[in-house]
Amino acid sequence: MEHLEFVAAETILRILNRVRSEKTFERLVRKSRYSNESVKPEERQFLFNESLRRFLAGHIDGWLHTGYHGDGSETPYQRSLAKTEKTRRAVESYLESHPFQVVARLDDGINLSITPPPEPSKSAAVGTSWARIEAQSKERADFLFVAMLASGWKHGLYKCRLCKRYQVLKKPRRRYKYKMFCRPHHQAWSARGLTKRRRQTAKDALRLRTAVPAADTP
Ligand SMILES: [Zn+2]
Repeated sequence: MEHLEFVAAETILRILNRVRSEKTFERLVRKSRYSNESVKPEERQFLFNESLRRFLAGHIDGWLHTGYHGDGSETPYQRSLAKTEKTRRAVESYLESHPFQVVARLDDGINLSITPPPEPSKSAAVGTSWARIEAQSKERADFLFVAMLASGWKHGLYKCRLCKRYQVLKKPRRRYKYKMFCRPHHQAWSARGLTKRRRQTAKDALRLRTAVPAADTP
């Protein structure tokens, strides 16, 4: 079956890599809980955006994690929803309320669609209470995550283990022996690894030299 792109990789990356402002977020959540009316439309939009980023990053991190292994390797094609209960539940509950629609075309092809919740492009569309904003952003995050799972580019998505930025590779490898890093950090990491390995070799050589006479002593 062909992949239907419900969402562009850039859309997901733009949300995930948005600059965070934890303090402003906490302050505005408190403010909107205390008095809805005092929260300005642009502050509500900020709350929605940051809450959306948090929900989406939560889902994606949970899913990415299923491709991490104890030996430090990472396998993008072996990520699985089955291994992450919390994220799987969010997907199941989203699909229960927004089922996929399958429509047979006249040329024997199949059209698949999911109903995206309306994007609140204008600040007026964002709810006025914190509870409403939170529910709206969660629904949007669930939709974007499901749409990402249905995409053809999902295996290319990764989070640099050093700078924590999200990126999408066009052709990811089956297995990364030492985690996945963005290009500059991969180079930095390799150089660091090389220095570490050189130091280790020097240490081993020293140990060997000091150990030899002791072993030779009758
Ligand atoms: Zn990086």
